[in-house]
Amino acid sequence: MQPLPKKYDFSEIERKWQQKWEDMGIYRFDWNDAKRTPFTIDTPPPYPSGEFHMGNILNWTYFDIVARYKRMRGFNVLFPQGWDCHGLSIEIQVEKEHKIRKRDVPPDQFRGWCEQLIERYIAIMKDAILKLGCSIDWTTEYRTMDPDYWRRTQLSFILLHKKGFMYQGTHPVNWCPRCETAIADAEVDYEKRQGALHYIRFPLEGSKEHLLIATSRPEFIPACVAVEVNPEDERFKKYIGKKIVVPIVNRAVTIIGDEAVDPDFGTGVVQICTYGDKEDVKTVMKHKLPVITLLTENGRITENGGKYAGLTVNQARKAIVEDLSAAGLLEKTETLMQEVGVCDRCKSHVEILERKQWFMKTRALTDQVEKTANEVVWYPDYMKTRLIDWAKSLDWDWVISRQRVFATPIPVWHCKNCGELILAEEDWVPIDPKLENPHVDKCPKCGGTAFTPEHDVFDTWMDSSITCAVHAGWPDREDWHRLFPADVHPSGIDIIRTWAYYLMVRHLALFNETPYKSCLINGMVLGSDGRKMSKSLKNYVAAPEVLGKYGSDATRQWAAGGGATGSDIPFRWPDVEYGRRFLVKLWNVSKFAIKLLEGYAPSETVEFELQPLDKWVLSKAEKLTQKVTDALEKCQFNIAVEEIRNFTWHALCDCYVEAVKDRLYRPETHGEAKRAAAQHALYEVLYRILQLLSPVTPHLTEEIYQAMYADYKGYKSLQLSPWPEFNQALADDQAEEHGDLIIAVIGEVRREKAEKRLPLNTQIKKLTVYAGDQKTAEIIKEGNVDIAGTCKVSNLEVLAKKGSGRTLSEYPEVTFTAEYEG
Ligand SMILES: [Zn+2]
Ligand SMILES: [Zn+2]
Repeated sequence: MQPLPKKYDFSEIERKWQQKWEDMGIYRFDWNDAKRTPFTIDTPPPYPSGEFHMGNILNWTYFDIVARYKRMRGFNVLFPQGWDCHGLSIEIQVEKEHKIRKRDVPPDQFRGWCEQLIERYIAIMKDAILKLGCSIDWTTEYRTMDPDYWRRTQLSFILLHKKGFMYQGTHPVNWCPRCETAIADAEVDYEKRQGALHYIRFPLEGSKEHLLIATSRPEFIPACVAVEVNPEDERFKKYIGKKIVVPIVNRAVTIIGDEAVDPDFGTGVVQICTYGDKEDVKTVMKHKLPVITLLTENGRITENGGKYAGLTVNQARKAIVEDLSAAGLLEKTETLMQEVGVCDRCKSHVEILERKQWFMKTRALTDQVEKTANEVVWYPDYMKTRLIDWAKSLDWDWVISRQRVFATPIPVWHCKNCGELILAEEDWVPIDPKLENPHVDKCPKCGGTAFTPEHDVFDTWMDSSITCAVHAGWPDREDWHRLFPADVHPSGIDIIRTWAYYLMVRHLALFNETPYKSCLINGMVLGSDGRKMSKSLKNYVAAPEVLGKYGSDATRQWAAGGGATGSDIPFRWPDVEYGRRFLVKLWNVSKFAIKLLEGYAPSETVEFELQPLDKWVLSKAEKLTQKVTDALEKCQFNIAVEEIRNFTWHALCDCYVEAVKDRLYRPETHGEAKRAAAQHALYEVLYRILQLLSPVTPHLTEEIYQAMYADYKGYKSLQLSPWPEFNQALADDQAEEHGDLIIAVIGEVRREKAEKRLPLNTQIKKLTVYAGDQKTAEIIKEGNVDIAGTCKVSNLEVLAKKGSGRTLSEYPEVTFTAEYEG
């Protein structure tokens, strides 16, 4: 055994072990190992944002605890790391940084800038992941912007196209006019914003009467294609089928009836425009109404808007309201709180536009998604309804094309002559159709030789929703099914509707199989004020600050112990501080143990005579092992951490070590075999704590292991030691009951000394314990070595009868009297 340094210097210890583990290669997945069962973690490749925040710390701590635990359980663990590079927010940041719009520069140059920015961001995040001590196999690192990854995304598209899951169609899509691209339902956030409800008179054709329409979007009046009322509404049903004049454009449209109209909202009369909202889309489809395109891709009014053409949506609204008012058609305006859909990247108001897009037939899979989600194990279980509810709520198929630059190209062309679609063959990819022609001489349909490339690119989720297969080695490894489905897909509660869902539909469509066997969900990190941590709320704490101040092991304890898996977890400095104090306690008890264990050479041949307290602590360590194993199997990290901390702090440090010190210090009085018993128990119990704790706080536990155990246990790292199995032979309820009583006697005597303001080592001339009955007396007598030793008793007498004196608080039948020296 080697001594530990006096002071626990986390930064030195953590840096040292992070480097050594990497050098030892102990996190490498062994692709050639046919013996151990593989365990695959579908690490979600993060979107490089230039910072690793406390939410990321929470995610990666969860992933890493699972990885380290499973490795100790004997699995061949695949813990990969990729980076999900493409996306709108990088484009937006490059535009800001270079003060340009993406269309201002050649696509190659723009792409290059995006790649540079991504690399900068990856470096920052990677550094934080390393500092957190994650046991990632860095030989697996990949970037979705690399052509080799394009190949996989494009190949999956080709396969799905051949299976009939991909189609091009003109459908209304969510559109961000700022980003000038289609976006998926999952990329639409909803915000409460104050708007206005305008009451506008629509004259009935050939009549002096009018109907009053309440709308929050008067700018869409030029695109009004019908007016709608509820056919049950006595006030208006007589008008159904009649014509009404749309003000401003003076065009007559038909009044139609539909049960979807809420007679109590507004005036009960609704204008249908293309498209003011998703309800308009439904109505237009249902009643086969014409479509008037009112908005351009950058959110301006088209020529269909007449005199308002060229205005922005907001300018048009203002102008139209003024014109309505001047014409005497605006009856009144009320303020209105409304939920509006905004782009999740730039927060612009999302519009609905009709444009030719690529879609994946996802709604056709909804029943299969529900069935599969019910078969997957969810941690915690109730999270599965989030996925199922989301899948069922979707109105539209997934729009997978985007109008961006920094993305994976869609590998198709069209014949210039006849329009025939040319889909890339599986062995053409990776390919950028904008730079390369299809590898065919002529159009198979008309023989034409000129082709138009597809300019649209893939939604980022097309890259990242095949990770379960990619991590397993698809399509290159023949044996990729050995690692598929992934054993666990870890994800945040906020991205179940994207990540967990897209993975599911994509893999079901491709392979007709679930992508993951289980799904581990983490909640959000809240600021100290209880609201979601965010820079704008000023409750934000940067991860490097926390790691710098307290180190990885303390921070990981916060993440693991902060709350139940799946629930939101507040960040509080005192929680991290508590984690650090616990580590210092473990450090100090280990140093003390090294002293107490001086001369002890653990071996099978050492003879020892276990005392009740040794059996007590050994049994409790077995029960702890059972509880911690059970908790980790269920991904209940907070329970595991609490159990270990309580046991270490109370059972080991406060009770056991205090009670056996004398036996360890004075073998001449108590005998070698009794000392060896305490040494054995102390040594093994501390080892057990280190093992159980090592998935959560790998650095400190490794440091102590190397000093005290490596020579005897023989594993080159604690991380390579096998997870302890619960040993029924050592779990002994009776020993625990007896030990509890002996501990209670020692505790009460020490309390009396403290109350009398006597030093704890004050000698007691005579201690008389009145046990109350014969059985209790015998149990206390079994512990006499430790009671007398710890309490410094010269003469210990244990009587079966009831007596007087001080009562043990937990055992009211038991009392004692003590005669002190001096
Ligand atoms: Zn946007
Ligand atoms: Zn053709």
